[in-house]
Order: sequence, then structure tokens, then C-alpha cells
Amino acid sequence: MIVVLLGPPGAGKGTQSGTMVKKYGLCPISTGDIFRSNLNAGTALGLEARSYMSEGLLVPDELVVRLVIDRLSQPDAQNGVLLDGFPRTVFQAEELAGFLAAHGKSVTCCLLLDIPEKELMVRLTGRRVCRGCSSVWHLTFSPPPTDSVCPYCGGEIHQRDDDGEAAASNRLRVYQAQTYPVIAWYEERGLLKKIPASGSPQEVEKTINKALE
Ligand code: ADP
Ligand code: ZN
Repeated sequence: MIVVLLGPPGAGKGTQSGTMVKKYGLCPISTGDIFRSNLNAGTALGLEARSYMSEGLLVPDELVVRLVIDRLSQPDAQNGVLLDGFPRTVFQAEELAGFLAAHGKSVTCCLLLDIPEKELMVRLTGRRVCRGCSSVWHLTFSPPPTDSVCPYCGGEIHQRDDDGEAAASNRLRVYQAQTYPVIAWYEERGLLKKIPASGSPQEVEKTINKALE
């Protein structure tokens, strides 16, 4: 099973990806996480992606596609994959389809986490993340037990650079302009399943499970 998880920034892709990976034994591939860990480790890839990410812009297609194809070729990605944050442009969607076809594979379905745009800024700017284990909280909806220390790993709870007002609103604009067409792309191919994503994580999870049955 090769599942694409699509949706605007703040729709809850990271949260749902965590539960789906466990339930279905999928190999998670999150381009955002890959870039962030490269950034933390100070690699060349991290340095290259940095300026785009902090502004809320997309990293250039060629770079992302190379990275994902490389990741998809590794042994742990041969028995089911969950793609989170990729593809984000029609070019990326086409490159992915081409690569999979060349290996006798294809995307099983694309789940769209569907949520009214007006809810997204609140979700993004209130989000807090653990530097250690990437656990996610929200100041209003699911506040961490203490302000700055992660209860799971003791790591520092902080706000992602790109969750500030300016970068967050840029990310929403970029989604509208560049990722919106990807929805139609999967819809035209009969692969799109819309998942209402305004509810609680548990409600969204149930809908996803039904869609994957
Ligand atoms: P979001 O919470 O906005 O969905 P991600 O964690 O998926 O964010 O990604 C963070 C940043 O990493 C993006 O704003 C972008 O700069 C870069 N990025 C991640 N995936 C891609 C992609 N498929 N194409 C281009 N840039 C990407
Ligand atoms: Zn932690």
C-alpha cells in the first residue's frame, strides 16, 4: 500500500501519520521531517533547504524529488509507504507516478485532510513541538503538561520557525497556489478520498480507517 497524505499546513498530517504508520505498518516518509532533521544536523541538504523553509516557501522540486526517490529505494520502504508532505506540486506528483510505474508500483490512494482555511492560522500559530521526539501540542487545544519540557523525552518544547505569523500565512498561500492543483490531479485519476479534518484526532482517525478498508 502506498498512501499519499495531502492537506494544508495545520490540517493534522503529522498527527494522523503517526497513528497510521503504527496501525498499518507503513514506512513513514515525511519530507518536512527529513528537511528538519538535516537542518538540525547541519548537513548540506539542510543548509540548502533552510532559507526556503524559514520563509514558508517550497524547496525546489528537483531537490525534493531526488530525495524522495532515494528514500523510496531503501529496503524499509518496499512494503508499504506513507508519504506525508509529498507530492506538493503537480511536477512532484508526476515524477512520483513515473518512478513508481517504472518499478511496477503505483499510488494506492491519496487521502485529503479537508479543513476550512479559517481554522488553519489558529492551529499553526498555537502549535508547539518537542525538539527531541517531535511530539506535537497546541497551546489551546492540547496544551503540554508543562510549558517547556516534553513529558515523553525531556526535550525542549518550542515553536517551529515556520509557525510564526508571517511564515505560516506564506505557507497557506503557497499551498493554495502550488499544492491545490495536486488535489485535482489525484481526483482525475480516481485516487482521491476526502477526509473531513475539523474534528478531534480520534474522529479523523476513524474516517481514515473507513476510507482505507
Ligand atoms: P507543513 O506543516 O507546512 O505541512 P512540512 O513539515 O511538511 O510542513 O514541511 C515544512 C517545509 O519543508 C515546507 O514549508 C517546505 O519548505 C519544505 N517541504 C516539505 N515538503 C516539501 C515538498 N514536497 N516540496 C517542497 N518543499 C517541501
Ligand atoms: Zn519529546
